[in-house]
Amino acid sequence: MKKSKTLIVGGGVGGLSTAIMLQRVGVAVDFIDIDPHWGALGAGITLTGPSLRALRELGVLDEVMAQAYTGEGIRVCDTQGNTLKLLDTPMPADAGVPGSGGMVRPALHAVLHQKMVNAGIQMRLGLTVDAFKELADAIEVTFSDGSTGIYDLVVGSDGVNSKVRKLIIPDAPAPEYTGQYAWRVTVPRPKEIDRRTYFLGGPHKVGITPTSDNEMYLFLLEKSPKIWREANALAAPLRALLKDYGGIVGQIRDNIKDDDYINFRPLEGFILPAPWYRGRVLLVGDAAHPTTPQLASGAGMAMEDGIVLADELVKAQFDVATLLPAYMARREPRCRLIVGSSMELGRLEQAHASIETMTAVVERTLALLMEPI
Ligand SMILES: Cc1cc2nc3c(=O)[nH]c(=O)nc-3n(C[C@H](O)[C@H](O)[C@H](O)COP(=O)(O)OP(=O)(O)OC[C@H]3O[C@@H](n4cnc5c(N)ncnc54)[C@H](O)[C@@H]3O)c2cc1C
Repeated sequence: MKKSKTLIVGGGVGGLSTAIMLQRVGVAVDFIDIDPHWGALGAGITLTGPSLRALRELGVLDEVMAQAYTGEGIRVCDTQGNTLKLLDTPMPADAGVPGSGGMVRPALHAVLHQKMVNAGIQMRLGLTVDAFKELADAIEVTFSDGSTGIYDLVVGSDGVNSKVRKLIIPDAPAPEYTGQYAWRVTVPRPKEIDRRTYFLGGPHKVGITPTSDNEMYLFLLEKSPKIWREANALAAPLRALLKDYGGIVGQIRDNIKDDDYINFRPLEGFILPAPWYRGRVLLVGDAAHPTTPQLASGAGMAMEDGIVLADELVKAQFDVATLLPAYMARREPRCRLIVGSSMELGRLEQAHASIETMTAVVERTLALLMEPI
């Protein structure tokens, strides 16, 4: 049985997970990232039960749980911090993971990166792909430094603005602004924040995710036309957006200092028609199915992509032509569920839909997501 030599383009959670899982089934992995100073921004990330299940499969759950917050459920509050409802975050007992969690992104990247390094994989930095040429039984890749390589499979895990996608599907839809900006700020965690918490019914969607025993992040989704903001002048507008909020959110607002690091990003998405491959080049993670963060599942989906890819590669006996349709059949419905439900929630938030309508979408989707991948 010939084991495929694979090039992975892009070292986010999707690329890292793919590298770990392919190496585990005996595939030779080359790994590149365009960023010469590879790393992750310091924002928090929510880890759903399915994301924690993926991290367990990747063999890093203990390392994650040593640093992260993990627990159960989501508290739904009004804008003044009064509890309205508790949502379950169910996971089957045999998944062996809590239903919910959160972590700072650099720590998540560091855990996955260490696992990759321990497996003997190196990431070459400051490098991208410039061209692909299909050969009779392989693919030739031309890199941005002029060198070339021959592979059985190329995995494009280079994010929402994927260059690999542009190379293989030049007429693919481009990411579109969905009408919302995400604001995130990391703050100290008081004891009363015992789980993920949403503050609904106000002008924005606001939430908190604990990321460790001592820290948490607050996020705010703002409906806004597309605008430019100076990165070092975000504190005052964020405080203004939070002006009507009381309770813990009001306390956080009053403690946001002008020089606090605030992450501010437009939300973008699009639906890429299937299949997410051409020839021997497959897109995974945000390159294939970028999603807005309403269900906090984009990174989880990218991790699952790597797990399913390795599993299907073994089932296909390392035959790429057999692998790719089988991979699509397993991944497309689940990723579409996430993207579709996240976009639906974004539209409901912008239309100021009722809390019941929005939490019903969250509960329905979370119940489906606990199914095995
Ligand atoms: C505001 C916001 C909040 C979010 N919150 C959550 C959350 O709480 N939980 C969750 O699960 N998901 C969340 N997501 C989604 C999550 O961030 C993404 O789904 C996830 O990061 C996708 O991982 P990826 O590996 O596919 O891509 P990325 O993380 O974007 O990584 C892409 C990598 O490719 C590299 N690269 C880019 N271009 C090239 C190129 N041409 N050549 C080589 N390398 C290249 C980049 O340097 C980068 O390392 C959020 C998204 C947003 C926008």
